[in-house]
Amino acid sequence: MQDKKYQVLKSVFGYDEFRGQQAKIIDHILSGKNAMVLMPTGAGKSLCYQIPGLCLEGLTIVVSPLIALMENQVITLQQLGIKAAFLNSSQNFEENFSVIKQMRSNELDLVYVAPERMLSESFLSLLEECNISLFAIDEAHCVSQWGHDFRPEYQQLEALKQQFPHVPRVALTATADELTKKDILKCVGIEKNNVYISSFDRPNIKYHIKLKNNAKIQLLNFLNTHHPDDSGIVYCISRKRVMQMTEYLIQNGFKALPYHAGLDNDVRSKNQERFIKEDNIIIVATVAFGMGIDKPDVRFVAHMDLPKSIESYYQETGRAGRDGLAANAWLVYGLQDISLQKKFLDDSEAAPKQKELERQKLKSLLGFVETTQCRREFLLKYFGEVQDEPNCGKCDNCLTPVKSFDATVAVQKALSCVFRTGQKFGTAHVIDVLLGKSTTKVQNNRHDKLSTYGIGKEFGLNEWKSILRQAVSMGLLNVDIDDNSALKLAVRAKSVLKGEEKIFLRQDKTPTVKTKASAPEKAKKVEFDSIPDQELYDRLKEHRLTIARAQGVPPYVIFHNSVLAQMVLNKPKHVYELRQIPGIGEVKLDRYGESFINVVNNSTGKIILKR
Ligand code: ADP
Ligand code: ZN
Repeated sequence: MQDKKYQVLKSVFGYDEFRGQQAKIIDHILSGKNAMVLMPTGAGKSLCYQIPGLCLEGLTIVVSPLIALMENQVITLQQLGIKAAFLNSSQNFEENFSVIKQMRSNELDLVYVAPERMLSESFLSLLEECNISLFAIDEAHCVSQWGHDFRPEYQQLEALKQQFPHVPRVALTATADELTKKDILKCVGIEKNNVYISSFDRPNIKYHIKLKNNAKIQLLNFLNTHHPDDSGIVYCISRKRVMQMTEYLIQNGFKALPYHAGLDNDVRSKNQERFIKEDNIIIVATVAFGMGIDKPDVRFVAHMDLPKSIESYYQETGRAGRDGLAANAWLVYGLQDISLQKKFLDDSEAAPKQKELERQKLKSLLGFVETTQCRREFLLKYFGEVQDEPNCGKCDNCLTPVKSFDATVAVQKALSCVFRTGQKFGTAHVIDVLLGKSTTKVQNNRHDKLSTYGIGKEFGLNEWKSILRQAVSMGLLNVDIDDNSALKLAVRAKSVLKGEEKIFLRQDKTPTVKTKASAPEKAKKVEFDSIPDQELYDRLKEHRLTIARAQGVPPYVIFHNSVLAQMVLNKPKHVYELRQIPGIGEVKLDRYGESFINVVNNSTGKIILKR
């Protein structure tokens, strides 16, 4: 059985080695035990149940919460020559019936089902008639009310352990907080010592977090420089912003499509489908977008506004680089974002306990964006992991280290200036008073007579902006959006004013105010450090797109970008040479090998002829 798993890995999936704990998990399942698998997005959870599904006699049932997700998985498996099908409400009676018939006659290896279908009486009795070898519960965090995608039907999965006590169950998720974990173990019926947890690090994602100064232009510069023609997601806080940003990107030559809950269902699913099936589409979206998207070649995720927690940030940015190739997570934020998120929280009608939880989460998120520490180290620590090396070398803070400075006195000055001016003014005026500016507002309010007038001349405007923003982030000051964004002292201000607490802040670099996007620098591809023959790579992609279109499937289910890149690097001349490339199994070799070899050979000829 052990050898079989390696054989399936190579001949079906075209891979030589298992990743991380995959082999251990597969052995565990093959020995008939239950398991819970916690792995970050893109780590390779699916193989953990697909390979046992193929090794074991009988049928594997995969419970999956989203139609789009299961359809995609099934298409991917069918491309590999695996006998897989799905059952959900998108099918008509005949399609449904045909799958059920195949299940009864033992013709399928894997069947994906929606949870509500799974638990109907008739389906459970159908299962009794089949030879079921394994239950896989994908996105298992949907069981938990604490998770972000609670699905009540998932809780009824408890029925499985009673009705099929001898069939092993494996629950898989990328959400690892303690409460969710406990709920999964209890509901699916998995013993505590059968849990496999992988590191949550996503080593191929680079993190960049910047201060907002002209967000649109900052985004354009980022895209022009790093992603002139890549697939990516741009998250915005509101539907209106989504529409504005989409238009702006289109005007600037990008293929951008909007996605938010206010759009017609038709438009939404069409846009989502184009994003999945075409190359180089940017989807501009609210958080409504993403669940169930397992497109592997998303090269960047950009946040135009702050997400509401580190969990959301990690989940959203985690949609980049599932294929393991380099990808970017990019975010811009400013004081306004911070105040806005705080206001959302204040205005929320959630129960007090829930509100407090969310307040803590926002606090952690603000700590993360303001940190001078390695971003990856911060993130992993938040999820309870310690990084071997304190500096990852692949985040903005590691690449261009930021100093922190003792800002206790500066913050005291700012806080007392807010207090003396009556907690009625926004940052601009408070800074004018600190700098001793003689504006009309200063004079009308006689603020030039205050003891704090002109006490902050050691810093400039941008430095004070930075100090005030960080004081708000840290919860020393509040911004009252309903009162003209006036700054008000928070409870914690007291201990700083009394000198009981030292405050260290990040020394922001003064943002250069750009009003125009710079002309695209020489565009860098992030996916690979360098690709020796871009022309061939592009032609292979084109060829892949033609095949994908003809079959109505996403290009990446034909071959991943990494496979095409290997073809460029190795320039194989014969079909058998393709066997060496990770990600080409026997069925794909047979179906597509020759046509890709032709593209490679042709192009080699072309280059020789090129003058
Ligand atoms: P997850 O469900 O954990 O987000 P997937 O199962 O979709 O991740 O796997 C992510 C990608 O990694 C897929 O493209 C998959 O083919 C690839 N992958 C998984 N296991 C291996 C492996 N052992 N070797 C190479 N690639 C792998
Ligand atoms: Zn780092």
